[in-house]
Amino acid sequence: MSLFNFDFKQYPLLIVDDERENLRVFELTFRRDFNVRTAMSGEEGLEILNTEPIAVIISDHKMPGMTGTEFLARAREMAPDTVRILLTAYGDAETLGQAINDGSIYRFVSKPWSPDELQVTLRRAVEHFAAERERDALLRELGTVNALARTVNQELAPDRVSEQVLSALNGDLGFDGASLLLYSEANQTLKMERSVPLGDAVDAATAGLEIAASGAPAFIGAMLRGESQILEMGNLLEFEKPVREWVTEVAADSVLVTPIPGKDTLLGALAVDNRSGSAPVGASQRVLLEGIAAQVGVAIQNARRMEDLRQSRLQVERADRLGTLGTLAAGLAHEINNPLVSIHTFLSLAGEKRSEDDEEFWGSYYDVARQEVDRIRELVSTMGRLANGSEQDALAAPTSLLEIANCVVTLVEREAQAASVEVVVDPASEGFKTLCVREQIHQVALNLTLNAIHACSAGGTVTLGAFLQDPEGQARAIVEVRDTGEGIEEEDIERIFDPFFTTKDPDQGTGLGLMICHRIVTDHAGTIEVASRPGEGTTFRVCLPHREA
Ligand code: ADP
Ligand code: MG
Repeated sequence: MSLFNFDFKQYPLLIVDDERENLRVFELTFRRDFNVRTAMSGEEGLEILNTEPIAVIISDHKMPGMTGTEFLARAREMAPDTVRILLTAYGDAETLGQAINDGSIYRFVSKPWSPDELQVTLRRAVEHFAAERERDALLRELGTVNALARTVNQELAPDRVSEQVLSALNGDLGFDGASLLLYSEANQTLKMERSVPLGDAVDAATAGLEIAASGAPAFIGAMLRGESQILEMGNLLEFEKPVREWVTEVAADSVLVTPIPGKDTLLGALAVDNRSGSAPVGASQRVLLEGIAAQVGVAIQNARRMEDLRQSRLQVERADRLGTLGTLAAGLAHEINNPLVSIHTFLSLAGEKRSEDDEEFWGSYYDVARQEVDRIRELVSTMGRLANGSEQDALAAPTSLLEIANCVVTLVEREAQAASVEVVVDPASEGFKTLCVREQIHQVALNLTLNAIHACSAGGTVTLGAFLQDPEGQARAIVEVRDTGEGIEEEDIERIFDPFFTTKDPDQGTGLGLMICHRIVTDHAGTIEVASRPGEGTTFRVCLPHREA
């Protein structure tokens, strides 16, 4: 709205005077330029204020009953935005001063007034009212835009970005309708993403609407150049066909379309319109819409970046899984192939040897073949357990990790004695209980302890510990297996969790133990840390998130 050439009659004046003659003169003098209401007393004035919007009040001071200053003070309470003017015939300096000081009047005019002077005063008052109102509207708008910018920039889901922006345009910012179109660079097409109010006739008719550069080169060209367009119903015939069809469906006096700029591309467009008959949208709302479009651009780009990140992470995870599967399959083929060769050889010879009493063949060859079959069966059952993952009946229960450690020490007694390795529980261990699947953690501790015994030469020591740690308030339950064995070469550390990675003889190791441990611990949302010094020993720490029940 411009302050020049506006219609003063849009802003009603109220004149209050107890003398009918004064009211008449006032009305006759000003009714050509202003929209004049009259009242013969403060009480009547308040009644009018109560029922009609009034921009400017002019009140006589000396009236029977409520005085002018009293009336204006009450008018201020009822309609604080009104501009209030007091007419006074004599200098009651004190009343006047007070009324001015406490803000109940805007200015005073002494009687008798001159029409020209009062005319100027009234114009100023109306302009003041209009400017204040516009300022308030702008501040409200600014508040909405700021709030929108804040939420939109924190929003990383594209759907919610468009939802918030459109509902702000259609809600607080007062546009009858608003739509978001997204631009596809590949197809050079703007496509309707969402239109509000949701589900109205326009939404239904424009769903899926597409404006391609081939059909609307001028319109898309303007968007690409970053130029907003005002599409007026009156110029309908001038528009390119797809644009004309769109504007026809919106059926508003005007549609304001603003491009949503990306870093170096067009991301889409925002459109607002007056489809339900509010004041037509136009150039004065362009800056507002462009500001919002810029925010939307940033938000869309953030959301897209986030989506890219999520996708690439998924891909890495998938590749990881495929990698593990691949390694597993290759390893498995290799592992099964070797024993199969011996079994195959044995079986092909068996036909010939059927009637022969070859002691070596039917003795040790036969044993080897049987052992190899067992080995394959063992492998297959291990793989089966792995594939099942966290078994259905694997229920987490409060478990003492110390008790598991004690149990493992007993279990490995024979192995330890055979290897002359001492296996002990760290006396500093703690007897707390934590929520986990007992059998699984038991298996982890057992695997780690057997590995530790294998790594030790005679005279070595393996120490098991159970501890509760609380580094940053996130308690961790820890099972530790420490040995004084040969340690792990640095280049191997990365590979020890790989399936079939083993440095042991085939009859000693499958290379699956640590992989299974890793799998179990990961299922518990925990981690396994390894610290090792070749020649000095190794420590495996299993850290589980601690939960008491
Ligand atoms: P396996 O025990 O069948 O070889 P694992 O997956 O249990 O398979 O272990 C893989 C490899 O990790 C072992 O062959 C060994 O080289 C290394 N390793 C595991 N634990 C230790 C340890 N405590 N000390 C030294 N090396 C170890
Ligand atoms: Mg092992």
